[in-house]
Amino acid sequence: MAGGAGEASKCILLLDDDVQFRALLGTVLRARNFRVLEAGSARTATELLLNESPDLVIVDGMLPDLPGVEWIESVRQRDTDTLIVFLSAFWRDLETFQRLTQELGVSLVAYKPIEPMVFAENILELLRPGPKRVDSVRPLPSSLPPDATDTLRARMRQLREEYARELPHKLDELESLIEAAKQRSETTRSAASSAHRLRGTAGAYGFKLVGALAGHIEDLLVEYQASPLLVRRNLWNEVDRALGDARLASRDQESAARVSIAPPNDALSTGTILFVDDDADARRTATALLRKQLFDVCVASSGPEALHKASSIKLAAAVVDVHLKNESGFDLCRQLRELPGKERLPLVLMSADQSVETRVASTHVGASLFIEKPFREDAFSIAVQQLVDEALARHGRVLILEDDRDFANHAELLLQANDIDTRAIVNPADLPAALDEFRPDLLLLDIDFPNTSGVDICKALRMSLQWQTLPILMITAHIDDDTRIEAFRAGANDFISKPVLEEEFNARVDVQLTHARLLQERAERDPLSGLLLRRPFLEALEQRLSEARRYERSLALAIIDIDHFKQVNDGFGHTCGDSVIAGLGQLLRQRFRNEDLRCRWGGEEFVVVLPGQKADLLERALGRVLKEFSEMRFEAGDGETFSVTASAGIASHPEDGLSAQALIRRADVRLYQAKDEGRNRIVGAEDTMEEARTGRFGKQHSA
Ligand code: GH3
Ligand code: MG
Ligand code: MG
Repeated sequence: MAGGAGEASKCILLLDDDVQFRALLGTVLRARNFRVLEAGSARTATELLLNESPDLVIVDGMLPDLPGVEWIESVRQRDTDTLIVFLSAFWRDLETFQRLTQELGVSLVAYKPIEPMVFAENILELLRPGPKRVDSVRPLPSSLPPDATDTLRARMRQLREEYARELPHKLDELESLIEAAKQRSETTRSAASSAHRLRGTAGAYGFKLVGALAGHIEDLLVEYQASPLLVRRNLWNEVDRALGDARLASRDQESAARVSIAPPNDALSTGTILFVDDDADARRTATALLRKQLFDVCVASSGPEALHKASSIKLAAAVVDVHLKNESGFDLCRQLRELPGKERLPLVLMSADQSVETRVASTHVGASLFIEKPFREDAFSIAVQQLVDEALARHGRVLILEDDRDFANHAELLLQANDIDTRAIVNPADLPAALDEFRPDLLLLDIDFPNTSGVDICKALRMSLQWQTLPILMITAHIDDDTRIEAFRAGANDFISKPVLEEEFNARVDVQLTHARLLQERAERDPLSGLLLRRPFLEALEQRLSEARRYERSLALAIIDIDHFKQVNDGFGHTCGDSVIAGLGQLLRQRFRNEDLRCRWGGEEFVVVLPGQKADLLERALGRVLKEFSEMRFEAGDGETFSVTASAGIASHPEDGLSAQALIRRADVRLYQAKDEGRNRIVGAEDTMEEARTGRFGKQHSA
């Protein structure tokens, strides 16, 4: 038989709740002489694991009795040796990926749909003696001898035909579960699991489009399950359409070509990823990977080319190689962020060099993620996806309270076309819950309801502390002056009358959302430096700290104070002083990552927080920023220029304390130490220990 002597004794446990998926993968693995055990639930798998001690376990991410990740956690509590492979159509986020590979010792993470033959080669590779490396599925050639390959292919064809025959019945089953869910929302879970099984299995059998459409249906059902009362109006239409398309796609090539709906995550291709690398191979690989994720890609091989292209298109993110031929990727990142409208462009840097210096420099130019080169397919794809998701999350949310379904439907379509998130509710009684849950940036409020009026609802909202400032756009069929005046009296921000003109509707919504955003910015940001004010900063810091505690991550914080600032004010005037504050503010805005917090603490004091980073990285990154600051020339007014320095103290979680207060106090003590030691410097934990040893710390502190 095929396979080779080494594998004959190896045993694989396959844990997946879809019988047909197990049949397919089991066939391919058995053709390689593996002994394959099958389990359809976590409970059975645990028993088999204890009794049969398999060499490797393949775990589906979504099991009927518990999530695959939790099952792996329970296994790892008593067994750290068994090789584990995680297989999922669902968990594609970087956090889960890292948790699996780094904490739970998972050897391979694969995403459905898989190519069974390629997947089996990867399993074979894992079970070969020698060092194991965590990796994603790689395109390995078949190691089966030709005759065995032929036999296996014939068997797979047979399985595929059987699956093709059953597919219509599976779609029927899904349809009846969907119909049941429409009637009784509690049954949505069954429909979602049915769609989930199709999502993972149809693709493996070669019905990729059916799998993709089932995935879309699953996502919609999960959304519905989460809040059946608040779901978008056209949800069921979309589900039905996707199901109809799945039927077409399940028949034959010709029918599949008539599928009208776009496969899932098409919504993400709202922007383009700029990929900059002087290596043509890397550009090709990255383009293929990004296209697979349905991104538009724009490549450049040099800095000037990248800048030229970036200035003319809307970018979702940029991925830049650190070592470009004639220039530095760091400089390019800086220049990209200086282009108009790109101050917050999400950045990923790539380098083979993993040194602390390189990482510090990449933080310095604002890169959120740093990936190794040559890049691993999964790490790369996930990194880009995560970055873009974050950037996209910034669109507004609009809640619609309107008992005319047709109108609400229409409004939702218009809003969604502008990337605005929408929810529609019919009944005024659902409003409080919807507000709390959905937290809209704007409320579209109908004026006519059977038992109450929009005007009264508006008045009630204006009396609640929390929703006092929520922008409200009233909609009505009455256009008489009295109604209009009454609505404004009740506290409506604007007014629109039915029938609604599309352009007018878009314009009024846009004005309200922009206004709300500006108000929010104004309430949270200091106009001079453009940085967060103390209160919103402290709120954000609390949130980052609780994340750091929960996931046992580090967090580094620095307090910065400009040196001899009084002399600037006294010598050159208050306006000059202001421009110094604005200058430092701009540097702090541009030189850190979007997820870092930067605050004007008060006067000429600033705080910077790097979630997930240790004190030494912050010390180096900030060192570069403060050096840059000291090299800035400011106008003194009489044609002369002057320069200024700043000092900082650093503290970190958990070493220096767990609370915001403790960290700030510690950093403040170190700031004063920096001032005492002659200014224009940073004091971190190491320095304090040094001082404590020489006995100077106490003396200076009390001085
Ligand atoms: P040190 O090196 O010890 O920090 O000396 P310093 O002169 O900077 O001392 P201190 O921190 O006490 O001085 C802060 C000064 O900053 C006092 C205040 O008048 C000035 N200041 C606070 N806010 C502003 C502002 O918004 N604009 C301007 N121009 N000056 C400000
Ligand atoms: Mg001060
Ligand atoms: Mg000062």
